[in-house]
Amino acid sequence: MKRISVGVFKLTSCSGCINELIYALVKHPELLKLIDVKYFTELQDVNALTELNVAIVEGSCVREEHEGILKKIRGLSEVLISMGTCATLGGVQSLRVGVDVSEVKKYVYLNPEYVDAYNDVKAVGELIQVDLSLRGCPVNGDALASIIKKIVIGGWPLEVYESLCADCKRAGIECVVVAKGTPCLGPIVSAGCGALCPSFGRGCYGCYGVKDKDLDPEKIFEMEKALGRLGLSKDDFYSLLKGYSMSLVKSLKI
Ligand code: SF4
Ligand code: SF4
Ligand code: SF4
Repeated sequence: MKRISVGVFKLTSCSGCINELIYALVKHPELLKLIDVKYFTELQDVNALTELNVAIVEGSCVREEHEGILKKIRGLSEVLISMGTCATLGGVQSLRVGVDVSEVKKYVYLNPEYVDAYNDVKAVGELIQVDLSLRGCPVNGDALASIIKKIVIGGWPLEVYESLCADCKRAGIECVVVAKGTPCLGPIVSAGCGALCPSFGRGCYGCYGVKDKDLDPEKIFEMEKALGRLGLSKDDFYSLLKGYSMSLVKSLKI
């Protein structure tokens, strides 16, 4: 079987998704026989910016330089995958959007002059064409391994588009809203994690991002009110949406 060339790139992110990819390679060592790693700074010393069958990008774009890097990667790649919620939707760094970035830098860093960032935070798909988006903070490593295997054999992953509640019901997990009155974003966020938090009796805080393709904005406002009755403040509700679903927040102008 012909191996596919793969590059893994990082913009602004915590490397959690890259770690998941590395765990996936350890857990599924057969993958290393299927891919020819050309660029993967966290895995190897030698990195070649060359033509690729598959580019995997972690992180969101926070400065001009990132925009140029992304366009270059797109130009070199047959298939481009945005890996994780940062790359796909903006990620937790989106929490600063709407606040002057120079104020945020002063608050966070001792030497803010060294930090190069513009006011906005952009998902990869806002700047270049993305062929496949994987949500999750971090992504699910097993899903990633399965997708790579499918691409190697010339297939393409089926996109499953369900709310997290579907994961919960399939796994027979007790609903934390019904059983305990715990706020949970499950009805409006994407499935994919197997309902990890509800399986531990916790509400979902939406790290796979809002299920936005067919979501009526009115449903967001209804959810905000429903979770408000369970004790989640309006500010906390929109902070969660902003951290994991920035593209939706931009479209709703919240
Ligand atoms: S999506 Fe989450 S785990 Fe992945 S890089 Fe961003 S912050 Fe880290
Ligand atoms: S616990 Fe959350 S995700 Fe699970 S069924 Fe209830 S609302 Fe949906
Ligand atoms: S239950 Fe929600 S917050 Fe927890 S891992 Fe899944 S999507 Fe993320």
